[in-house]
Amino acid sequence: MKKHNFSAGPCILPQEVLQQAANAVINFDDLNLSLIEISHRSKNFVSVIEKARALALEHLGLTNKGYSALFLHGGASTEFLMTPYNLMNVNNGKAAYINTGTWAKKAIQEAQLFGETRIIASSEEKNYSYIPKNYHIPNDIDYLHYTSNNTIAGTQMKSFPKHDGITVCDMSSDIFSRQLDFSQFDLIYAGAQKNMGPSGTTLVIVKNDILGKTGRKIPSMLDYQLHIAKDSMFNTPSVFPIYVSMLTLQWLKDLGGIPAIEKINNAKAKLLYNEIDRNPLFKGTTAVEDRSVMNATFTLTNEKLTTAFDSAWEKAGISGLKGHRSVGGYRASMYNAMPLESVEVLVDVMQQFEKVS
Ligand SMILES: *Cc1c(COP(=O)(O)O)cnc(C)c1O
Repeated sequence: MKKHNFSAGPCILPQEVLQQAANAVINFDDLNLSLIEISHRSKNFVSVIEKARALALEHLGLTNKGYSALFLHGGASTEFLMTPYNLMNVNNGKAAYINTGTWAKKAIQEAQLFGETRIIASSEEKNYSYIPKNYHIPNDIDYLHYTSNNTIAGTQMKSFPKHDGITVCDMSSDIFSRQLDFSQFDLIYAGAQKNMGPSGTTLVIVKNDILGKTGRKIPSMLDYQLHIAKDSMFNTPSVFPIYVSMLTLQWLKDLGGIPAIEKINNAKAKLLYNEIDRNPLFKGTTAVEDRSVMNATFTLTNEKLTTAFDSAWEKAGISGLKGHRSVGGYRASMYNAMPLESVEVLVDVMQQFEKVS
């Protein structure tokens, strides 16, 4: 029996996508060749990447709105430095960052190599357990950067600050999970392995007209404009992760797109958070209003029960529930591909555990 996979990333993918991907590794498009042994310039693969790029923009409502979709290498971590490379002025560069988690902080550290990096709000002093509100965004900055969903702490921005200038969002762990006006962002990036595909490719959605304005010389591989000009094929792309991402985006479309998955995601999160709040053996680790729909973090109220609880969920076929070492406790990641049924199994384990403890 397949396990109930609550892994934070790389994480669960739709079972039918895994099956299609497995088939393509042996015989892709009835070519009697594997997907991973043909040229990335072959018409079969070009149509895969073109479809993946088009589906990404379509889901976000950004088709024909001056945006490009790219599938790049190096994970979201490389976007931490590509952002300032492409957007921070070479003279007196300034950017503003909101420090809401481990990943936000890593993005800040990279930007500091390029120019003045102002942390305009932070929740670090409370171990990132809430989303800061009521901060001031300066208007003399080249761009504003924030993280929509904090994968490790388990918090999520429910609304976004108003900013007329360039706005950058690390959406690695909640892209395609909820309806938003995506045109409020000028640059969105997301490592595939949280909500879209396997690790090894990063989706970048960039508004074309924000680029080429910094006066900075940019190495080819880090230059968004060059990747756009080369249709995301400047060098050999990650063919397998892009193929699986395309299948997942098609799966999402067949399901009814973001509006349909958002309903399911909300139902899963509600079910689990209700149990965390009801059951005296558990407590949530984040501010209630900032709770992530994707990653629910919680602890046992009595740590002495850890071994017993761990064996209870393992016996129920649950995998990947351990919290990140910086938070402790548990983290249930409920990405798009996780069925409601898996969350029901977890909630049932928590209820049974209350009865026997
Ligand atoms: C996982 C994650 C990253 C880092 O992604 P890599 O692809 O491993 O570089 C960055 N930001 C967020 C929000 C993440 O969840």
